Order: sequence, then structure tokens, then C-alpha cells
Amino acid sequence: NTTVRVDGVSKQYDLGGTVTALDDVSLDLSAGSYTAVMGPSGSGKSTLLNLIGGLDTPSSGQVVVNGQDVSAASEAERADIRGTEVGFVFQTFNLMPRLSAVENVALPLVFDGWDRNRRRERAVSLLSEVGLGDRTDHVPSELSGGQRQRVAIARALSTDPALILADEPTGNVDTDTGAQILDLFDDLHAAGNTFLLVTHERHVAERAERIVHVEDGHIQSIEDVSGGEH
Ligand code: ADP
Ligand code: ADP
Repeated sequence: NTTVRVDGVSKQYDLGGTVTALDDVSLDLSAGSYTAVMGPSGSGKSTLLNLIGGLDTPSSGQVVVNGQDVSAASEAERADIRGTEVGFVFQTFNLMPRLSAVENVALPLVFDGWDRNRRRERAVSLLSEVGLGDRTDHVPSELSGGQRQRVAIARALSTDPALILADEPTGNVDTDTGAQILDLFDDLHAAGNTFLLVTHERHVAERAERIVHVEDGHIQSIEDVSGGEH
């Protein structure tokens, strides 16, 4: 029940000179696990997340998500994997400003071929799950930061992905709202969802079961967080 296998992955960027963002990184994520990635700025955290999410391809090595080799997939195939196997939650929410909460959550289902009524039904149910059942028809500018992030989380869950990738999901919200979002992740993890979360905040990382410490493109250590509780 391995959801993600990262095997000997390196990533170089060529911009005049060559930057090695990741150097021979291997990491497995089992189904239902909750992993945090920590490390200094520029250590390769986002690159790792982007490779697992199929936003980019490795220079060498293999990335397998839910049995599919993302590293060998074409751009079109990777777009398909992103749409169905992976849910993204970003610091900046990335919501469509003209679409209501329910329309934002339903958007991945449009690409997945769901009909209109089923899309709406599922989106409303996901918004209720994240505590926004009374905000379904608000557009993002009518919602608070925490509410917007919860819409983004509901959207990430819409296709029932094998894995949820979160890049600094509490980076743009106040402390109380951040705590609510982490509580929501705990609930979703308890319900069986698999999480990989990038953060530079120790107290956020400690909500996971283990912390992968990245430094200079390498995995420095993997720390078990005792109890996985707080
Ligand atoms: P982190 O998320 O830990 O801050 P990144 O994965 O964003 O680190 O970056 C790792 C290294 O790769 C950095 O040196 C960064 O400058 C470089 N890098 C990341 N993305 C690109 C890109 N698209 N083009 C060129 N260099 C990049
Ligand atoms: P939360 O604690 O859930 O993040 P806030 O205390 O920031 O919420 O906001 C309280 C209420 O005010 C919310 O229910 C939201 O609908 C409304 N609200 C917050 N920010 C805005 C905004 N920029 N424009 C319109 N309504 C807002």
C-alpha cells in the first residue's frame, strides 16, 4: 500500500550555470500516512513536492504515484494524474476569483467528466465537511483567509485523490485560523487521507507522523514524531 515512491531522484535546473535542486533523493509514502518536509529556503522542498505532484519531471530517477510512473509520463498524462490522483493546497489558495466556493470546489470534477448535478452535490457535501456549508455561493473575495483555504482544501479533496500535497498551507493565515486548518488535516488524516506537507514551522511539522529534513537537495534525516499527537 505504497502511495508514493520516490527512487533515486535528482533534479537539475540549467540557467547558464547548473543548479542541483535535488540530489539522489529516495522516499516512500504509505497509504494513509502523514509526512512533513522541513528545510531551509532553497533546500529543494518545493521541487520535491512539484515532482511528486507531476508539475515537473526529474532529471533522473523515478517517481511513482498510486502505481503510475509520473517521471515517465507525457505532459498530457501528468495533467491527468494531477487532476485525479493528487490534490494540491497552496499558501496562496489559487482559487478562481469569479467562481463561487461551490464552483471552485467542483472545477476538478468538470475536467473529470462529472455531470453538473453530481458535481454540485459533491462540492456542497465537501464544503459542509470543511465547515463551509453556509458559504457555498460566496466568491473568494467575500470569504476570510481561513475560509478561502478551507475552500482550497475541499477542492483538493474533490476527486478523492490518493495524495494531498500542501505547500505552506498555513503560511497566509493568522494563528487561530492556521490551528483550525491543522485540525481539519488531522480529521482528514484520521479518515484515511494521505498527506505530504511542506512547512518551515516546527509546530506545524509536528502534527505529522514523521518529519523529513531536507538540506541542500539531500534528505538529511527522517524523524519519527513521537505519538504523532500534540
Ligand atoms: P525550497 O522549496 O526548499 O525553498 P526549491 O525547491 O524551491 O527550494 O529550490 C531548490 C533550488 O532549486 C534553489 O536553489 C532554487 O533556486 C532552484 N530552483 C527551483 N526552481 C527553479 C527553477 N524553476 N529554475 C531554476 N532554478 C530553480
Ligand atoms: P475566520 O475566523 O473564519 O477566518 P473572520 O473572523 O476573518 O473569519 O471573518 C468573519 C466573517 O467575516 C466571515 O464569516 C466572512 O464571511 C466575513 N469576511 C471576512 N473577510 C471578509 C472579506 N474580505 N470580505 C467580505 N467578508 C469577509
